[in-house]
Amino acid sequence: MSARDSLTEYRRKRDFSRTREPRGGAARPGDEPVFVVQIHDARTMHFDFRLEVDGTLKSWAVPKGPSADPHDKRLAMPTEDHPMEYREFEGVIAAGEYGGGTVIVWDEGGYRNLSKDRVGREIPFAEALREGHASFWLDGAKLHGGYALTRFHEGDGEAWLLVKRDDAAAGRSGAPSNPARARSVRSGRTLRQVESDAVGPS
Ligand code: MN
Repeated sequence: MSARDSLTEYRRKRDFSRTREPRGGAARPGDEPVFVVQIHDARTMHFDFRLEVDGTLKSWAVPKGPSADPHDKRLAMPTEDHPMEYREFEGVIAAGEYGGGTVIVWDEGGYRNLSKDRVGREIPFAEALREGHASFWLDGAKLHGGYALTRFHEGDGEAWLLVKRDDAAAGRSGAPSNPARARSVRSGRTLRQVESDAVGPS
């Protein structure tokens, strides 16, 4: 599936005359693939974990966010592919629109594919995801080291687990337990500050 086709669901869910989220379409030239973790204060607070794969952002909603502790298994529910530009999005999605609520970019950076098949041969990242088990190394401002995403339920209600690998970066820094106090890696703002900036000075 091309990056263009994979955004059909993303666009169908949104009215771009009512949201400032990007429509998407511009490919990102570059070398190292990127990841982004956004905090989304929607109906329920959650983290959105996104990895660049073949020109789009593969996305999972992670209620508790990525942990730095290899013993934590964090539930990750797949969501529709998002356009590359979405990694820069912070702002307020209007109430009543799809995903209505406030978004900040909590962490971002590059990642490296560590995925291997059963006999230890490297496999392409997209293939690893299709197979339901992908390993990768994050070089973020906050998140570091190896992580794995593993699908444990297919079909309706597809679900994955996001787990920190046990390495030197384990225990260093994971998602905050109180996202309301977390700050954007891009602007230093909290969710509240992004919200009040969107309304403008009163
Ligand atoms: Mn979300």
